[in-house]
Amino acid sequence: MNTSVIERYRDRLPVSPATPVVSLGEGSTPLVSAPALSRQLGVELLLKLESMNPTASFKDRGMTVAVSKALEEGAKAVICASTGNTAASAATYAARAGLEAIILQPAGAVALGKLAQARAVGATVLEIKGSFDEALGAARELAARGTHALVNSLNPYRLEGQKTVAFELVDELGELPDLICLPYGGGGNTRALGLGLEELASGVPRIYAAQAAERAPTVASAIRIADPVHRDEAERVIARSEGSVVTVSDDEILEAWRALAREEGIFCEPSSAAGIAALRHVPDIAGRRVVCIVTGHGLKDPQVVEHDTEPPIQVDPDADAIASAAAQAE
Ligand SMILES: *Cc1c(COP(=O)(O)O)cnc(C)c1O
Repeated sequence: MNTSVIERYRDRLPVSPATPVVSLGEGSTPLVSAPALSRQLGVELLLKLESMNPTASFKDRGMTVAVSKALEEGAKAVICASTGNTAASAATYAARAGLEAIILQPAGAVALGKLAQARAVGATVLEIKGSFDEALGAARELAARGTHALVNSLNPYRLEGQKTVAFELVDELGELPDLICLPYGGGGNTRALGLGLEELASGVPRIYAAQAAERAPTVASAIRIADPVHRDEAERVIARSEGSVVTVSDDEILEAWRALAREEGIFCEPSSAAGIAALRHVPDIAGRRVVCIVTGHGLKDPQVVEHDTEPPIQVDPDADAIASAAAQAE
């Protein structure tokens, strides 16, 4: 049986023996080396593959705690306003718990794979005729009535679960790395990382949080957030670490995304490559040990591949024709 975030770090999470554990074996994600990018950047780069969580993003670390607590507290349904991975994770953990899931999404703004996940596990997906903020406002109102548990990142249990990524890094490396880089959307993950590091009390690596230059229309849909809800706390964590917020262009994000895929074999969604893009702007990294948090899987957003690569070449089932087409394609 897989371990779960709650079982692995029970003593550091807000759970009791009475909490029903809703788990799909999240956490304990691989930490793999990135030899080609390490050589290019002159660092020791390690990739924390949060894309290997049950619904293929780091959101599961927090969702296992949020949904377990919702069940403990007697909720019959969970609700969230989300443009993607939160919805996929909430819907999946709700299905596991036997709870109804209501997903409020802004029209047309959701990556294909994420929406497919929410629908496949039976969530009620409602397209809101209004802005994301209006959707969130309505969800909060329902939550205040006590019928629905709100599992947006405002839910404090989400941050508690997400902080465990810091514990895992130390468990695996024996110490903290020199630098950690990650994408910066709403800032919940940066804030949660800060919480985990604070509890470890063994120093703080420099944290570099990568935001898209144009937050609202960026290709990196998971960080397409105009107004980060956790901005103050996240930027306090970053400042205390002596790191910084790094602003990267869509071209830089896509270049890092291609490099991860083609040189390391790591297929992630574009937002997950933002941390790597940021590294090119970070001073004093030579020889440092860097962990980049790869937040979500590439299959979440197959449309980006469609736009970024050549379509397959048609060829006859003939050895010479295949060899010649392959040579041309190289
Ligand atoms: C949610 C998400 C982010 C952004 O995280 P924040 O906590 O909003 O800063 C980045 N990448 C992926 C894949 C995500 O799902």
